Amino acid sequence: MANNYRNGSSHRTPLTKTDRPLSVNSNAKGVVKSKPLPSSGLRKSSPASLGSAAAAAAAKDDTGVLGRVRVAVRLRSRNEEEMVADADFADCVELQPELKRLKLRKNNWDADTYEFDEVLTEFASQKRVYEVVAKPVVESVLDGYNGTIMAYGQTGTGKTYTLGRLGEEDKASRGIMVRAMEDILADVSLETDTLTVSYLQLYMETIQDLLDPSNDNISIVEDPKSGDVSLPGATVVEIRDQQSFMELLRIGEANRFAANTKLNTTSSRSHAILMVLVKRSVEGRDIAHSGENGNGTQMVKTLKPPIVRKGKLVVVDLAGSERIDKSGSEGHTLEEAKSINLSLSALGKCINALAEGSSHVPVRDSKLTRLLRDSFGGTARTSLVVTIGPSPRHRGETASTIMFGQRAMKVENMLKLKEEFDYKSLSRRLDIQLDKLIVENERKQKTFEDEIERITLEAQNRISEAERNYEDALEKERLKYQKDYMESIKKLEEKWIMNQQKQGSERIMAGSKDDSSDVASNGKDSMASVVEELAEVKKLLLKETQSRKAAEGEVNNLKSQVAQWKRSEASGNTEILKLREMLEDETQQKNKLEGEIAILQSQLLQLSFEADETSKRLDRGGSANGPGSLDSLMTEVRNQQPKDSGNGEKASIAKLFEQVGLHKILSLLEAEDTDVQIHAVKVVANLASEELNQSKIVEAGGLSSLLMLLRTSEDETIHRVAAGAIANLAMNETNQELIMAQGGIRLLSMTATNAEDPQTLRMIAGAIANLCGNDKLQTKLRGEGGIKALLGMVRCGHPDVLAQVARGIANFAKCESRAATQGTKTGKSLLIEDGALSWIVQNANNGASIIRRHIELALCHLAQHEVNAKDMITGGALWELVRISQDCSREDIRTLAHRTLTSSPAFRAEISRLRIER
Ligand code: ADP
Ligand code: MG
Repeated sequence: MANNYRNGSSHRTPLTKTDRPLSVNSNAKGVVKSKPLPSSGLRKSSPASLGSAAAAAAAKDDTGVLGRVRVAVRLRSRNEEEMVADADFADCVELQPELKRLKLRKNNWDADTYEFDEVLTEFASQKRVYEVVAKPVVESVLDGYNGTIMAYGQTGTGKTYTLGRLGEEDKASRGIMVRAMEDILADVSLETDTLTVSYLQLYMETIQDLLDPSNDNISIVEDPKSGDVSLPGATVVEIRDQQSFMELLRIGEANRFAANTKLNTTSSRSHAILMVLVKRSVEGRDIAHSGENGNGTQMVKTLKPPIVRKGKLVVVDLAGSERIDKSGSEGHTLEEAKSINLSLSALGKCINALAEGSSHVPVRDSKLTRLLRDSFGGTARTSLVVTIGPSPRHRGETASTIMFGQRAMKVENMLKLKEEFDYKSLSRRLDIQLDKLIVENERKQKTFEDEIERITLEAQNRISEAERNYEDALEKERLKYQKDYMESIKKLEEKWIMNQQKQGSERIMAGSKDDSSDVASNGKDSMASVVEELAEVKKLLLKETQSRKAAEGEVNNLKSQVAQWKRSEASGNTEILKLREMLEDETQQKNKLEGEIAILQSQLLQLSFEADETSKRLDRGGSANGPGSLDSLMTEVRNQQPKDSGNGEKASIAKLFEQVGLHKILSLLEAEDTDVQIHAVKVVANLASEELNQSKIVEAGGLSSLLMLLRTSEDETIHRVAAGAIANLAMNETNQELIMAQGGIRLLSMTATNAEDPQTLRMIAGAIANLCGNDKLQTKLRGEGGIKALLGMVRCGHPDVLAQVARGIANFAKCESRAATQGTKTGKSLLIEDGALSWIVQNANNGASIIRRHIELALCHLAQHEVNAKDMITGGALWELVRISQDCSREDIRTLAHRTLTSSPAFRAEISRLRIER
């Protein structure tokens, strides 16, 4: 790791190249006296900046990277006073910058030599000082590490000059704070990164806010987990440009001056601390794009919390390191003097302890050491510049400064990347995502509703078309019969006419016979011409006879005519009879036709329900009802009902229903054709699912018809649908009594015994479960085998059936418990009598929550009455009750179970006997 660090080579491109950074040899160096130094080796070593490759390595490895505290020594040139006062004396130090050595003169012929990471002469420019002391630290901070730059030295040696110089009049003299911010601002992207600054002063163990002087007692907060130190009371200013930062430094400087005047001290007695927090979003750009499009992978990507790196740069301009005059010449008491010096001496102790590898580092001794706990022996990259003056008069202070620097060089830090998941920004992103999904969902919902509307409209159109077709067919049929009838009448008329004609011709034929006999007698008379007269007489006689005969004939004719008339009158009567018969036939046909139409209409009704059911099924994707609940039973039957939203459709069905009529539909229940019966029972079941229709159905005798179907029909579909209809009717108390009075329990039990289909069983169980909830019917229901029937149905094992059975048992137990409380019932539970307990215990922890819930309730009800306790204990129900009282997800049931257990003496005794923990 150390090698890695030493050989790390990367430079940040946005910054100008670090030409001579501090050496990064992690071997701590102590005092080296007149010994060749491995300086070339040091110089060859890699730049101090912890490049991104090393950073990546550090990110993977939580143990961090070793990073020794770097120490540079900076010598100030003689000032005017020194030039005069020390004119005759040589400087107390001699620098060998190329060897990174400093010689501290002991006397004219002897000196101690010390090696530093960098030795900066009085000619070193501010730029160079920044680059070797501060820049590597700034780069680390930009990479997400904490960093500290600190100046230590006697007052007047240039600490503030090195760190805090603003350089407004002379840009070249800009100090480390100004240059560091320039580099930071050049590197961050203010769109994704944030930059905040606090500026504080520590004096006599009090932290004051240099950005808000009224804020003069800021406390240090340590995160007990991470050990991170923060000052939540300090003003935090977000920096967006260099000008605002400069303004901030000016304000800080002014406040520092004012504060020190007020405290009657100089800035040399206080520590100034600048804190810069650089918060960088690691995948900022990546994220900005991913939000745009809503596809799955992008979504997943967006769900990954973004990573933020929080590098904190702390720049500390320490108070002067010279010993405070304890005589109180500055106007302080001894106590004050101690306090003034406390932080600095504590820092010295900590550094000594760290340099010696001592197990105890007295970090908590002062505010300064608490604030800097990450800078020395922590995770920060730390660079220290010790400032010295040349004056031999201050040799002692200079020597102690040098020793401080030497010890600090032995302090090893373990650099750690300050990287964390940015949950806040993830949450913001998820909010946006959620909004998007809501909008999308609403859009889908709308499309879906439109689709439903379209289907409804289509169904309506189909219904009206079918109606029209049936009307047409009916009209055709009617016309055909009318035509047939007219034709029969016509035929009759023709027959009648023919008869008449026949009679007419018969009459004519009779007339012509008389004429021929006349001719024959005339022939005989012509032979005796003499007796013409006689003939004449005879003629006359004949005429007379003829006319008599004709008269007679006429009479006969008339007679026969009368007879004929009489005959035809008779035949006319039979014709009328025939016509009557035909008319009756006609009426019968018409009635039959009407019946067929009614069936057709009910089929149509059914069809429309089925169409609706299909659309409902589309709708049913995330149905909230669990299987087997009463609600789902209702919903299922209701699903065949027209939807409330489809008003038009409902109206048209209501119209059809009106046309067909409830009585007609009920009468079709008795139809001979099973298909007709099935359709009719389905229609009735649909109607029965609507509370409004229930009383009408019962009043019209529908309940009896449905029960009758259970008795007479052998069709399973009819059984299922009829039982469903009965279950729905059984929701009402009056109907429950009617069902019982009509032997409903026996019929339902019988049907259950023969049924195989789980859905039929479910409907029957649902109906019985409803009846179980009626307090008045308890004994009768049990007497007619209701409980046994319920228990018999569990053989099918279908969860829907089991849920209804469980509901019935819970209903029954509830009513029983109520009756027992009211004193109207004594003795053991009928459920226990009928052997329900073992099933109850077996299913008390059923995986299906709906079954479990009912059973848990039933158990609680049963347990409330001491008479049941013995059976419950022997039947194993106690264990279940204990379990319910401990981990039933419903609090009310849990409490009920608990209460029951504690109030029953029998249970209590058993529990303590078995030493069950509760
Ligand atoms: P400190 O903060 O250590 O008490 P200052 O930074 O206030 O010391 O320096 C004291 C004086 O010396 C100031 O007038 C400052 O301008 C001057 N000074 C210090 N170091 C240098 C330097 N390297 N070059 C020029 N002037 C300096
Ligand atoms: Mg100063």
